Amino acid sequence: MSTSELQALLALQDLDSRIDQERHRQAHLPQRTELEELARSVAERRASRDAVALTLAEVGARQEAAERELKATEDRVRHVNARLYGGTVTASRELQAMAGDVEGLRKRVSELEDRVLGLLDEREPMDASLAELDKILDELAARRAEAESSLEVAEAEIGSIIAGLEVQRPALAGPVPADLLAKYERLRARLGGVAVARLVGGRCDGCHLSLPAVELDRIRHDVPGTMEYCDQCGRILVMPGPA
Ligand SMILES: [Zn+2]
Repeated sequence: MSTSELQALLALQDLDSRIDQERHRQAHLPQRTELEELARSVAERRASRDAVALTLAEVGARQEAAERELKATEDRVRHVNARLYGGTVTASRELQAMAGDVEGLRKRVSELEDRVLGLLDEREPMDASLAELDKILDELAARRAEAESSLEVAEAEIGSIIAGLEVQRPALAGPVPADLLAKYERLRARLGGVAVARLVGGRCDGCHLSLPAVELDRIRHDVPGTMEYCDQCGRILVMPGPA
């Protein structure tokens, strides 16, 4: 290797690290967390809403049944009254029996009216909580739409930054010999994306450990352009050269 090839590799590593950072930033945008939280909230509220709606439907069914019976009983009262006062029935015993029927039916009407009112009272808080939950769900849907479009914008922004960096890659990879490039990619895959580290102040800036004095001394006396590796992390070590 020549010193300039190693410097080219270092420049390539710097570029790839920046691309990796942008990809990481893109994958961990705060909008994603926000959307996950919103999805959880929506699921919770929907479950609550379903439970309330189910109870409400049961009460509603009981109310309808009571109203149906109420209407039928009122019809019956009208019918018996019509016969009672229609003049077609004259037998006093029969008239007395009909009057008794009307009295019984009126009592039932009153009971049914009370039942309907009771059920309406029972519904009231449920109707209110259903309306409240619908309002919250609407707000959550609005926040979700907002977070989604904000995520889209942020993703596109970072996407164009990445595209701008990737355009520079061939020019930086070009001067690096093919076998060195292959080794670089292998190390990158194994070492969290960082295959090349700088040797700065006796330390490897890949693993941040100081090299033993003997090792440092050996590297200093090697022919420039020699491939050096960090013993602790296995990365290619490059002296930061003149820019
Ligand atoms: Zn190291």
